[in-house]
Amino acid sequence: MSFSRVTGQQRAKAQIGAWFASGRVPHTVLISGQEGVGKRRLALELAKAISCRQRPGDGCDTCPSCIKADTLSHPNIHVLLPLPTGTSRSTTDAEQFSALREAALEYMAGGTVARSGSNLPKDHLMLLQREMSFAPTEAPKRVAIIFEADCMQRAGANSLLKILEEPPRHAVFLLVSAAADRLLPTVLSRCQRLPLRALAASEVREQLVAAGVATERADLAARLSQGNRIRPATVGGDDFAARRDLVERFMDSALHGREEDYWALLEDLGGRPDKQQMEGFFELFSAYLRDLFLLDLQGPSRVANVDRVDRLADWSNRVDSRRLDGVARSLDAAFDSQRYNVNPQLLLAELWQQLRRSGAVNN
Ligand SMILES: [Zn+2]
Repeated sequence: MSFSRVTGQQRAKAQIGAWFASGRVPHTVLISGQEGVGKRRLALELAKAISCRQRPGDGCDTCPSCIKADTLSHPNIHVLLPLPTGTSRSTTDAEQFSALREAALEYMAGGTVARSGSNLPKDHLMLLQREMSFAPTEAPKRVAIIFEADCMQRAGANSLLKILEEPPRHAVFLLVSAAADRLLPTVLSRCQRLPLRALAASEVREQLVAAGVATERADLAARLSQGNRIRPATVGGDDFAARRDLVERFMDSALHGREEDYWALLEDLGGRPDKQQMEGFFELFSAYLRDLFLLDLQGPSRVANVDRVDRLADWSNRVDSRRLDGVARSLDAAFDSQRYNVNPQLLLAELWQQLRRSGAVNN
């Protein structure tokens, strides 16, 4: 039992090992844990371990079964993930499966799912149910992986419950969720839990470097993912650099009291940024805010944005740290409000004012 492609998670791996050793892999497993801990990878490796006949219980990575699993083309491994609402309409089963596979490949490569405006629709769950009811053809079992399993509306949730209430004997369902508490209690009660714990910074770094990310970036990602809601995998991308630039300009303009810079920044953000953009912005802002607290309390060695220590020090000199609590509260409120379609410009303006006031004493 090695699951070598999954970083850390010794306890979960031991649990899986025990299941295979006793010949009792549960019908339904819930893989939970915060963003970036390796849930996707673990789910796929578990599906491989169930399907591989060369090294059952682990997966050999080289047999046809493992290779098909890795490319998400195994006929007995089915993957579901939320797609934007409306994409499932008026297409054939084959087209839907191919759309799902496309999306899942991107997702496995670190892509994100726009959770708002997307869900696991009832049609897809029923499609899955039908597929899972057939006997497996190339593996001992059929495995279904349902990513972002909490991301469904009532109709979807009820379909899922129906499936889990009477699972076919040869079926294994792997539910994956970073917000498991949002699942129906009746669904939860049918799952064997497999919680993944937060990775240590060194483990995140190791994971990224193994995936080919430059050491410096890996280091930043490792630090940013500690205690923040930032997926390490997103730190490498171009859009991350752009978002970072926006957040830094936002903070800079507030703490230097330069309103014209703020307006310029809004223009660059574009008319009406979507929820995903806003969420990304707030998450990163939150990381900088946390750095300001850390810098104040523990000095520069603990900050996440290691390559921005000078800038942080400048901001830190400008803020009255006692007022940062107010900024943090304002940020929490903004996080909540953007979920309910509150105008993003309004949220940003409020946050900016709050931040500006925290710096006003020294301006
Ligand atoms: Zn294999």
